[in-house]
Amino acid sequence: MKLNNQHQKLKENYLFSNIAKKVNEFNKYNSHVKLIKLGIGDVTRPLVPSVIKAMQEAVLHMGDASTFKGYGLEQGYLFLREAIKNYYLIKGAKICEDEIFISDGAKSDIGNILDLFDKNNIVLIPDPVYPAYLDTNIMAGQNVIFLKAAESNEFLPMPDKNIKADIIYLCSPNNPTGAVYTKDQLKIWVDYAIKNAAVILFDSAYEAFIDDKNLPTSIMQIEGAKKCAIEFCSFSKTAGFTGVRCGYTVVPKELKREGQSLNKMWLRRQSTKFNGVSYIVQKGAEAVFSQKGQKQIKENIDYYKQNAKIICDCLNQLDIYHCGGINAPYVWLKCGMDSWEFFDFLLNNAAIIGTPGAGFGEMGEGYFRLSAFSTRDSTIEAMNRLLKILK
Ligand code: PLP
Repeated sequence: MKLNNQHQKLKENYLFSNIAKKVNEFNKYNSHVKLIKLGIGDVTRPLVPSVIKAMQEAVLHMGDASTFKGYGLEQGYLFLREAIKNYYLIKGAKICEDEIFISDGAKSDIGNILDLFDKNNIVLIPDPVYPAYLDTNIMAGQNVIFLKAAESNEFLPMPDKNIKADIIYLCSPNNPTGAVYTKDQLKIWVDYAIKNAAVILFDSAYEAFIDDKNLPTSIMQIEGAKKCAIEFCSFSKTAGFTGVRCGYTVVPKELKREGQSLNKMWLRRQSTKFNGVSYIVQKGAEAVFSQKGQKQIKENIDYYKQNAKIICDCLNQLDIYHCGGINAPYVWLKCGMDSWEFFDFLLNNAAIIGTPGAGFGEMGEGYFRLSAFSTRDSTIEAMNRLLKILK
């Protein structure tokens, strides 16, 4: 019996467990102090009425023999895949139902997609970025190199002609920096991927936060992307599904490597290892795309974006460098010290929990992420506390 020793290469302390440990310690001695959580990117707004209604109706279907559903298609119900196809059409991207795969969230698919690739690829991962990309690649034993994001490239790194990567992760809007690639920039990435026969793994989990009509919300809006990109999306931040669990992955049929269709491989993989998302959840997800659903989720997204504005206004007053928060739910600020030190400083002096930039990669050192997913009252109170200790 031999273990997968790649696990020993994972960093001991996962970002959020380390934060939880520090917060527990703080609570032990300060149980009377109200902590404000602007750390973990979980949402606070409840599911919208259209989603609740659709899920309630779906529950009733399950209790009636004539409408009961057992196992569904591993790929997801057609009604949801059609709704997603139409959503992409509005964006100006044409994809077919059989290029869409419904899952229990983007995180699972982001990790599982590595089943399609050999272990000897060069994997390019942005730094800083959502930590799951790196950890899943370490577990899978891939060769990782980093794509450095910094103030100098506005946290939007571009390809280096001298580096030949096989698999490229892009996250736009980025977690944690909130940076969003333009169409021209994504076109350069698409051209690079096609030239190198690479595959882009594009994470658009925060696409619904993009208001600027000139910015792309999907890589599928870029010419040539269907030949080189897979897109992961999620209902978590778009519609408050963090606890419901639903996402989708777009694997274009045109995407072929070594004569193989990645769409076919993914279908085979999913039908072997996955049995689909519950009917009730998929009915709720379908309602997100209804006219009413879209209007209702937009109200929640606008609520979070108003929180982001409150955070940015406060940082402006304090003259602290920051980015993000405009087309994204995260504000990325320069803390001017070790990011874990700043975490301790905020926790101990203002009882605010944020996320140290170092937890998203080496390039995140010296920066800090504040999330706009809190409640309005907590966001305002947190910024008042920040002004008090930093002004
Ligand atoms: N991708 C990014 C960039 C994220 O920040 C997150 C969650 O925070 C996810 C994916 C995971 O999404 P899901 O809840 O659908 O698994």
